[in-house]
Amino acid sequence: MNKLLIKIMILLFACAYYSAAIAQLNLTEEEHQYLQQKRVITMCIDPDWMPLEKIENGQHIGMTADYMRILENKIGIPIKLVKTRSWAQSIEYAKARKCDIFSLAMPTEERLTYMNFTRPYLSIPLVMATRTDKFFIADLTKVKGKKLGVVKGYAFGEILRKKYPYMTIIDVDSLHEGLEKVNKGELYGFIDTLVTIGYEFQRNFVSELKIAGKFDDKWELGVATRNDEPQLLQIFDKAISAITEKQKQQILNQWLAIRYEKVVNYRDLWPWLILMAVILTFIWYRFYVLKKYNEKLKVISITDNLTQMFNRIKLDQELIKQANLYQRYQQPFSVIIIDIDHFKAVNDRYGHQSGDIVLQEFSQLIKDNIRKTDIPGRWGGEEFMLVIPNTCLEDAAVQADKLRLLIAQHSFKVIEHLTASFGVAQFGEEIAGGEIDNPQQLIARADKALYQAKEEGRNRVVKR
Ligand code: GH3
Ligand code: MG
Ligand code: MG
Repeated sequence: MNKLLIKIMILLFACAYYSAAIAQLNLTEEEHQYLQQKRVITMCIDPDWMPLEKIENGQHIGMTADYMRILENKIGIPIKLVKTRSWAQSIEYAKARKCDIFSLAMPTEERLTYMNFTRPYLSIPLVMATRTDKFFIADLTKVKGKKLGVVKGYAFGEILRKKYPYMTIIDVDSLHEGLEKVNKGELYGFIDTLVTIGYEFQRNFVSELKIAGKFDDKWELGVATRNDEPQLLQIFDKAISAITEKQKQQILNQWLAIRYEKVVNYRDLWPWLILMAVILTFIWYRFYVLKKYNEKLKVISITDNLTQMFNRIKLDQELIKQANLYQRYQQPFSVIIIDIDHFKAVNDRYGHQSGDIVLQEFSQLIKDNIRKTDIPGRWGGEEFMLVIPNTCLEDAAVQADKLRLLIAQHSFKVIEHLTASFGVAQFGEEIAGGEIDNPQQLIARADKALYQAKEEGRNRVVKR
């Protein structure tokens, strides 16, 4: 009694479930009756087309297996797999009506003689794989005179042959065999869907093969149903329409996103890395050249052209710098202004060019006989300046006198005898009115000292 009750309940539940499914699909009375008589729908698939579908240990796996489970639920009667060894055999079975449907197929003229096709539920780009050493092909339809493989019986084999009769399309038994032939060089390329080629790449041809180009045509795949039972087409069309985007996305994620996470082709990365390196080197080189150029400009901007000593710009900078150091650390410094005596006479006697040579030799003599820390520069004309850090007036005057003697004793190339007068001043001495010293005042004092040296008969040092 109890068992009977359970059986009745199960039956009622099944009926309710079935009618709910039917109601959901809006099936007509005729379709409804057809399904009740049919009881089970037989299905052929491609036994080797992962991740789309595959027969593994007698079981249907892959994306279409998930789709068929959803469709089965919606239709309300079982969809049973008919095992085959190849897609070509599946086609034979369908023609012999050993299976009612193909889980995933695309219409072709030839197929329409024995099958109907639902609206597509999968849309996948069609691509061509080649060896890595081949070029990327922008327009695959322009590839002429090269052997391109397609799995025997695949719809796009028929479609491509009709659409692009000049293409040389060769049948192969499976995706794996096709790619193997490309790898061995027996085929130039192999055409299949992006997902199936990608799936095989990741397993067997990680670095040897690549996607060399993509067709504009998308691979639109739906369910194919035997055309002698037209109700099947309407039922599957309705069931496919009831699949939600969310379900589609879930299936896609499960079979693509997860399984592709390891697909990083490092060999394909190399050209990019090299390109990056070239660009970076170029940028670095430009930067280096610019930096060198700027450094050179900076040197030029503070160098006197004739004597290659510092110029007045640098001397002014140095005076400000030393004045700041004095303010902060009370560190004394001095300047010496040197003016060649009767230089006009040198020009008048030997000419301006010879005068220039004397100026160059004079500069060199000064540079060779000062301390490393001293800053020598051409103040203008035949006047020179030394900025002498960390040195008081007395010591600077002693240094000036040494230079004076050296010059007076030096025999120049152009002129035997030459003397110079020296004005020396120290920064930071008391200025009338309690004013703080500044570079201008310092120069004025040194100039005054120089003037006095000239007045007193030249070839001497005066300090103030
Ligand atoms: P002193 O200083 O002893 O009073 O006599 P000086 O003849 O040196 O007097 P002054 O300063 O008036 O003359 C400087 C001369 O130096 C004038 C100018 O012809 C010459 N001179 C200035 N700059 C240059 C230069 O770059 N090259 C040459 N060859 N001569 C220059
Ligand atoms: Mg002068
Ligand atoms: Mg002079």
